[in-house]
Amino acid sequence: MLRSVILAAARSQKVERLVETAPVSRDVVKRFVAGSGTGEALAATRQLADAGLCITLDNLGEDTLTAEQANATKEAYLELLAALGHAGLTAPKEGGGGVTVATAEVSLKLSALGQAFDEQLAEKNAREICEAAAALGTTVTLDMEDHTTTDSTLDILSRLRRDHPGTGAVLQAYLRRTEGDCRELATAGSRVRLCKGAYKEPEHVAYQAPLEVDKSYVRCMNILMAGEGYPMLATHDPRLIAIAQDRARWFDRSPDEFEFQMLYGIRPEEQARLARAGHTVRVYVPYGTEWYGYLMRRLAERPANLAFFGRALISKK
Ligand SMILES: Cc1cc2nc3c(=O)[nH]c(=O)nc-3n(C[C@H](O)[C@H](O)[C@H](O)COP(=O)(O)OP(=O)(O)OC[C@H]3O[C@@H](n4cnc5c(N)ncnc54)[C@H](O)[C@@H]3O)c2cc1C
Repeated sequence: MLRSVILAAARSQKVERLVETAPVSRDVVKRFVAGSGTGEALAATRQLADAGLCITLDNLGEDTLTAEQANATKEAYLELLAALGHAGLTAPKEGGGGVTVATAEVSLKLSALGQAFDEQLAEKNAREICEAAAALGTTVTLDMEDHTTTDSTLDILSRLRRDHPGTGAVLQAYLRRTEGDCRELATAGSRVRLCKGAYKEPEHVAYQAPLEVDKSYVRCMNILMAGEGYPMLATHDPRLIAIAQDRARWFDRSPDEFEFQMLYGIRPEEQARLARAGHTVRVYVPYGTEWYGYLMRRLAERPANLAFFGRALISKK
């Protein structure tokens, strides 16, 4: 309930202005966002890599409305990839069960590359980023946004995969269609990130009750772990992580044949624990100045984070 209220309020421009200009927002943002530019993103990546973790970087921004903005986002990714390559962070790791598993890769939102007003432009931009990534030995994963974009994103993914088969997909367990999509995508070499889903979706397309979403996650995970692809299990949920470890044993998958993924700043001790246990753990590292939409989704996931906001506010008084 509170989740829906926060996600609905997040669409109000008044709330956006209030949150973006409140001085305490900076402290809260720092917990979830690695910094505003390539340099800070690189420093965070280096620190995580030194701690034995893998990374996927997201240049923040979504719902781009002009070709110039979309082009600027593409350029930011090209700059980031060049910097990662220069720092030696894009080399593929050993293993990977037949797919490229680089220390650092990038995640991108097609809506930031123009999907809402020109799908072909978004695809062209994404293709350029995939080419730059491939030249450095690394990969791209296409984030999944609200359900009105799912078909378009999966279509673009399948075209990108013709030239860049390592391009990762994201599927959201809260969508009723996702079990079917998992079956389609559980093919050899296919990197698929499974997450619960972070947008406010209507009942006819998405499960609403957390228990239903969790049960769907387990069904989808079973399909991916039984399949031939490379599952990327994106969750902080201790129960789902334990079930994933159980399924890995059941389906005889070694630790280099799937990975866990978590968000920057969320359950860092668990990230370290899983890495120490021999798992590949990839941290999703967002950076940039357009943090509003990302931050609101993180607050909606865990309303307790609002208390964090509140404490920051009180400590500033
Ligand atoms: C690597 C990665 C990539 C993602 N990519 C996408 C995407 O492309 N599209 C999309 O729709 N969604 C994406 N998500 C978000 C995802 O859909 C969920 O909204 C988010 O991960 C929370 O779900 P959960 O599985 O962690 O379970 P939850 O039930 O939400 O959380 C389980 C536990 O994790 C901790 N936790 C979870 N969220 C927070 C938080 N915000 N702050 C503090 N603690 C928290 C708490 O301890 C909580 O009890 C991604 C998530 C990850 C980890």
